[in-house]
Amino acid sequence: METIIYEFSETFAQSMDAQDPLAGYRKEFLFPKVDGQEAIYFCGNSLGLQPKSAQAYIQKELDNWANLAVDGHFHGEDAWYHVRKKSKPALATIVGAHEHEVVAMNNLSSNLHFLMVSFYRPSPKKFKIITEAGAFPSDMYMLETQVKFHGFDPKEAIVEVSPRENEHILRTEDILQVIKKHEGELALVMMAGLQYYTGQVFDMQAITKAAHHAGAIAGFDLAHAAGNVPLRLHDWDVDFATWCSYKYLNSGPGNISGIFVHERYAEDRDLPRFAGWWGHDEGERFKMEKGFVPMYGADGWQLANSNVLALAAHQASLDIFEKAGINDLRKKSELLTGYLEFLIRQISGESGVLEIITPENPKERGCQLSLLIHKGGKDVFDEFYKHAVVGDWRHPNVIRLAPTPLYNSFLDVYRFARILEQSLNKFA
Ligand SMILES: *Cc1c(COP(=O)(O)O)cnc(C)c1O
Repeated sequence: METIIYEFSETFAQSMDAQDPLAGYRKEFLFPKVDGQEAIYFCGNSLGLQPKSAQAYIQKELDNWANLAVDGHFHGEDAWYHVRKKSKPALATIVGAHEHEVVAMNNLSSNLHFLMVSFYRPSPKKFKIITEAGAFPSDMYMLETQVKFHGFDPKEAIVEVSPRENEHILRTEDILQVIKKHEGELALVMMAGLQYYTGQVFDMQAITKAAHHAGAIAGFDLAHAAGNVPLRLHDWDVDFATWCSYKYLNSGPGNISGIFVHERYAEDRDLPRFAGWWGHDEGERFKMEKGFVPMYGADGWQLANSNVLALAAHQASLDIFEKAGINDLRKKSELLTGYLEFLIRQISGESGVLEIITPENPKERGCQLSLLIHKGGKDVFDEFYKHAVVGDWRHPNVIRLAPTPLYNSFLDVYRFARILEQSLNKFA
């Protein structure tokens, strides 16, 4: 990455936008309004914006349903029977996998459970799971209930890795050391790829290697990583992963999830799974016979027939990702987040009122910055909202801001910084 000397000025922000090859994508999204004013939207980590094209993609399937009804399953190139194939090229690029290693299906929390059926197979001796402390609640509940389901005590079976005293992010060496320490009893390492609260990207490659060395499986929840940071799941040798499509993947509230299962399991018929007919050998599916034969690769984990309307909205966004290119998106993301970081540091200055807890190294973060606000707290956050800034507040004093490279501009970041400055002057 070339070094850019950032400046706290509107002209600088405008010149960055003028040189930004991806600037045009902003126009492809719908921005919400706050009291009639178009928002500065930094909440793509929670719900990505709607691509303008989503409506037409969904309408097309509504039309197919209206005009073809049941024949839509097998009619033409859009046949619903094969619809799962459409999203594979983009998903494979986004998570760094082969197409047969990924499939869009279900919702994230459901997929976590289904993948655990195959990949958490504890024995009386090897039953422990390592995860990060303060994981997203759905993941904590999933682990807790899975462990109980297998007859173990969560207090004993779940080992949480915490930051050191007075630190906010995890050190890779500490994660690896905990894996080593529990080696003899470890069944699984299951954690976030990018931590939702701090914005830290974990070293998935090193963690996977250590887990394998310990004779354990490695799985990641990529809810905040997919569409945000470079991923190479196949090469990193990750066993399994899952993500949602409504955060950085802009596919609409609660929309479909996706899974990754490493190629080495593609033909593994001995892995336990909870099956459904859509995971059964496609050629034989309509024979409606007993005896589950999984499809090759990730497709063999599908249960139900594809949610066509959900996939239509998903595809609208994936097509934009493919056009924009994930490498260019990442380049812009580093610059844009770097700019936000620079402006926050300028504003906070000596006062130290704002403390960025997300890692400073761009390799260890995506586009989200999490700030501790030491004075003014929620009043400051509420004041931004009055000025149409949509960010995210986490009790007791964390603000999360995610300038996303697809639809945010350098000018957004600059305008936000001026609002932040005024809000702090008023309340901090
Ligand atoms: C957003 C998020 C979820 C949400 O799960 P759903 O099943 O999509 O409701 C789960 N885990 C993590 C880590 C998340 O960031």
